[in-house]
Amino acid sequence: RPLVELIGIGKRYGSGETAFDALHDINLKISHGEFLAIMGPSGSGKSTCMNLIGALDTPTRGQYLFEGHHVEHFTRDQRALLRRKYLGFVFQGFNLLARTSALENVELPLLYRGENKKVRRDLALAALDKVGLCKWKDHTPAELSGGQQQRVAIARAIVTHPKLLLADEPTGSLDSHRSVEIMELLQKLNEDEGITVALVTHEPDMAAYARRTVRFVDGNVESDSQEVKV
Ligand code: ADP
Ligand code: ADP
Repeated sequence: RPLVELIGIGKRYGSGETAFDALHDINLKISHGEFLAIMGPSGSGKSTCMNLIGALDTPTRGQYLFEGHHVEHFTRDQRALLRRKYLGFVFQGFNLLARTSALENVELPLLYRGENKKVRRDLALAALDKVGLCKWKDHTPAELSGGQQQRVAIARAIVTHPKLLLADEPTGSLDSHRSVEIMELLQKLNEDEGITVALVTHEPDMAAYARRTVRFVDGNVESDSQEVKV
């Protein structure tokens, strides 16, 4: 069964006169092991869709299945659990703790999980190794470049071995050279570690690293590179 299945998903912000339908009728399946890019113009609903898949927000209508579990019926606590156990998040801003070393930043999700110090250290070092930053483990974010900070954020997102890594404009604040490094890293994590990646980007150069592109226009899926034409 698919990892993620969105069936007839709609999202309305506000109500009455000011109601706005950010998503109309989204049908989307994401399989285990995929590397998917969501593209589309500003305001087309990309972030809204990512926030729904990330269980940060709830749909107005439709069904959201995560490995067959009906997330649209989850309580707030169940959604928090889903995020903590099965999802990893990377954003445009790196959201690292400023006065905290790279290693401790990566350990943080494991602390929330109640893992002991030894487990936290071992898993965090393994994650930093995957992003090529072991040498920088004792540095604080301010001592790292933007690209390195984003790699720390990626290590933090994968340290719990999530089933799905969600990245919303992860290269949005990086120059083109650093952006390519981040995309090559996501590609490597997908190919070598089997991590399922869903990425939002408006840059075609970045989307080219994904194996599938879904294009949003005005709250609908306009095209899907995986769709079989009949
Ligand atoms: P994208 O990520 O493609 O730029 P968004 O999902 O951020 O698009 O936004 C889609 C539409 O929904 C936009 O018109 C935006 O203004 C609107 N929107 C997003 N978030 C909210 C919100 N919290 N309240 C009202 N409207 C919103
Ligand atoms: P459902 O009614 O969809 O089977 P349950 O109420 O039994 O859902 O349990 C939902 C809880 O189970 C959620 O808090 C979720 O975090 C957790 N859960 C366990 N396994 C999974 C999974 N593979 N995918 C998503 N959630 C899961």
